[in-house]
Amino acid sequence: MSKQYVFAFDEGDGKNKHLLGGKGANLCEMTQIGLNVPPGFVISTEACLEYQDLKGLPPGLMDTVREYVRRLEGKARKGFGDASNPLLVSVRSGSAMSMPGMMDTILNLGLNQQTLQGLIAQTGNERFGYDAYRRFIQLFGKVALGVPDEPFDEAFDEIKRDAGVKADVALNAEHLKEASRRFLDVVLQHTGKPFPEDVYEQLEIAIKAVFNSWMGKRAVDYRREFHITPDMANGTAVNVVAMVFGNMGNDCATGVGFTRNPGTGENEMFGEYLVNAQGEDVVAGIRTPKPVQEMEKEMPDLYRQLVDLRNKLEGHYQEVQDYEYTIEKGVLYCLQTRNGKMNAAAMVRSSVEMFEEGLISKEQALLRVNPEQLEQLLHPGLDPKHKQAPLAQGLPASPGAASGRCVFDADQAVILGRAGTKVILVREETKPEDIHGFFASEGVLTSRGGKTSHAAVVARGMGKACVAGAEGIQVDARARLATVGDVVLREGDVITIDGSNGNVYLGEIPTIKPEFSRELRTLLGWADEVATLKVMANADTPATAKVALDYGAMGIGLCRTERMFNAVERLPIVVEMILAHTVEERQAALDKLLPIQRQDFKDIFTIMAPRPVTVRLLDPPMHEFLPSEHQLEDELQALEQYRMSVRGRTAAVAAMRLDHAPDSITEDQVSAIIARKERMLRKVRELYEVNPMLGHRGVRLGITYPEIYDMQIRAILEAAAECRQAGTPVTPEIMIPQVITSQELTFMHREVNRIQAEVESQTGVKLEFKFGSMVETVRACTRAGELAKVAEFFSFGTNDLTQATFSFSREDAENKFLPLYTDNGILHDNPFEVLDVNGVGMLMQMTVEQGRKTNPALKVGICGEQGGHPASINFCHKIGLSYVSCSAPRVPVARLAAAHAKLKAK
Ligand code: ADP
Ligand code: MG
Ligand code: MG
Repeated sequence: MSKQYVFAFDEGDGKNKHLLGGKGANLCEMTQIGLNVPPGFVISTEACLEYQDLKGLPPGLMDTVREYVRRLEGKARKGFGDASNPLLVSVRSGSAMSMPGMMDTILNLGLNQQTLQGLIAQTGNERFGYDAYRRFIQLFGKVALGVPDEPFDEAFDEIKRDAGVKADVALNAEHLKEASRRFLDVVLQHTGKPFPEDVYEQLEIAIKAVFNSWMGKRAVDYRREFHITPDMANGTAVNVVAMVFGNMGNDCATGVGFTRNPGTGENEMFGEYLVNAQGEDVVAGIRTPKPVQEMEKEMPDLYRQLVDLRNKLEGHYQEVQDYEYTIEKGVLYCLQTRNGKMNAAAMVRSSVEMFEEGLISKEQALLRVNPEQLEQLLHPGLDPKHKQAPLAQGLPASPGAASGRCVFDADQAVILGRAGTKVILVREETKPEDIHGFFASEGVLTSRGGKTSHAAVVARGMGKACVAGAEGIQVDARARLATVGDVVLREGDVITIDGSNGNVYLGEIPTIKPEFSRELRTLLGWADEVATLKVMANADTPATAKVALDYGAMGIGLCRTERMFNAVERLPIVVEMILAHTVEERQAALDKLLPIQRQDFKDIFTIMAPRPVTVRLLDPPMHEFLPSEHQLEDELQALEQYRMSVRGRTAAVAAMRLDHAPDSITEDQVSAIIARKERMLRKVRELYEVNPMLGHRGVRLGITYPEIYDMQIRAILEAAAECRQAGTPVTPEIMIPQVITSQELTFMHREVNRIQAEVESQTGVKLEFKFGSMVETVRACTRAGELAKVAEFFSFGTNDLTQATFSFSREDAENKFLPLYTDNGILHDNPFEVLDVNGVGMLMQMTVEQGRKTNPALKVGICGEQGGHPASINFCHKIGLSYVSCSAPRVPVARLAAAHAKLKAK
């Protein structure tokens, strides 16, 4: 065997996670920096890939393994398979990407009838020996031999019932001996073969089982769900580790911890432990563990060792660690460490504090936080004004508040979630096979398990609310209900959970947006210092402008004037403008709109001052402001019927010679409404376009109806003048949409100059503003050099530009074929969500180059939806854009992404 497949913990390269897996690399690293790790070795991921290719272990691998076991025997001073002084090992999986609970681990391997007696004799503890044995038979049976859990669990429950005890710890040696005997039977019955006695045979089967688990359904699903590609993790390593025992008595324990609180980021000891228990008991939620703070009283000396371990881990990794340990007879062993998965708030707080503690640099602090994660911080919390008493309480396992209908299994969560119903997944405890239910739920509630239970860990990773271990709730998944005292929760009943304090409420409770923390402000402040790309917001109203400012927008990159037209009291005036027969009629309507728009602009400019506000002149085709042809036809039909009935009633009233008319609408009034609707219908038909998105819109409207754009330009400039008179320093930017040629820009520029002169002479104010162009047609890209002679800035409208580049419309694509394209990998992403760097990006790059060639001062930004997406932002930085503009809540994400882009380019 030429290639080295096996590495002892003291020789493996702790940085090479790809080869050794995360767990293996860290076990090597920890061993080499002198932490107390039980001896062991790693079989590399390359061996796993070979195994998949060959459908068998690489030739000679088991010989090497034997050699490493012999070295292990030397270090542990025990013999593998030795009847008087047996070495037991764990066989653990671990790939380059952490996939918690996705693959299985076998503990206590090396036990058989003989070594068991040796273990018992050596420890003088029969109960312990049989406990280890029955655990091994079940785990090995399940993981390596494919025996389901149920027959084991049934046999075990029966023993507990017969013994009249509830907890495992209450069983004595005889009970556990009986359990081992029955478990061996279960294996024999299910596999038709006796349980393997030969320890090397056990080891070989276990190694193969771990390698097989890499291609198992659970692992494959997980990788797909989390987009783990082969270049991120390819194959799993196998870690063979000498066993240490947390279940040898009351001076033994096992626990898991985070070096900081993963819910808040606070710098404190965080974790849980169980006395006299073995590894998986803590995570499995079989017994509810104690918070680590209690260890300080219960085992003060060990607590000090644990604090020391925690400090060494953080000091070395310069990153919050999630670690596992076991205490055997007063000696602390570290069994695993990895970077801690924390929610956004905790990441942000720990980043800022770790910088302040001198542990990491500002750059490290920024790079630690994934920009996408910041969205979580905008998650709602419960309105503190609510007065409702909680129905039950559990542990605050993942912060955020969520309401939804109770569901009791993951499949049902998916069914209802797909249908758009908000659901809360309610389980006794969750398992890796429930993962699809997490995605579909607003939050997760469990009645068992601690803050490090599966439910808690997974929910935190996803940023979903979770309350764990709400012991007052009895969950009956089969009956699809849960009871709390005498309250019964059935499937479909609405509950609210608050993952920040562990409360569970009946019904829906209103939520509010959280405040920006000091740490978030600090971190984003650092991001702004680092980044060159500016972050603007898309905002159309004074209210959203305020929100954008709160989120730290450095200006408005896109203010869509048509949004201002849509308000109820304004739409009739806009319709009047559209229906106008003559220029005069249209002007009359525009004269009414002018002061309204001017006031809007004034408000927005004032809020944003002195930051720039880019106003885009009217863009959509006119028919968008009118009802559809269909709707008008229906309305007309109804009105016609009504007119007939009014006519009939009037005639009847006349025939009866009543003195007074019925107090209802007259026929004339109905006729007037009908006439207006008929005019609208004619207009709608006149405006009909085969392809409205490629039709009469944008600057083409401005050129065919110059009075519309004139009104808008005037409103902008007059608002700017008024602001200046009030001493507010404003810098509006006028942006022309749908441009295809510089002549359009020259035409509009002349208008702007003319109106500027008028406004300046009227007000005596010298105006300062910019004039620029949207770049959202392919022709604009190819003519960028010419456009830049007239435009002072460009803004990529990547929605339209993507549509034009792909020659398909967003709606049709997303409804008909795009999902299939992305599922099959024909397109990597939906280009309307993630900027298509290879196609659209090429056009953008060319545009920037050509534009700056004729106008070196040209400012260039992007205002499409993709402007808030970190990967797109990275590209925008690379091609030298001046700014990105995105929706207000994405602004914090974009600010951090802009800093990342700069730091990563270095
Ligand atoms: P996972 O990746 O699911 O966390 P692990 O390989 O870490 O699986 O093992 C599962 C549990 O078994 C953990 O709690 C771990 O601490 C425990 N464990 C693993 N190896 C040993 C060992 N050599 N001695 C004692 N406990 C162990
Ligand atoms: Mg582990
Ligand atoms: Mg557009």
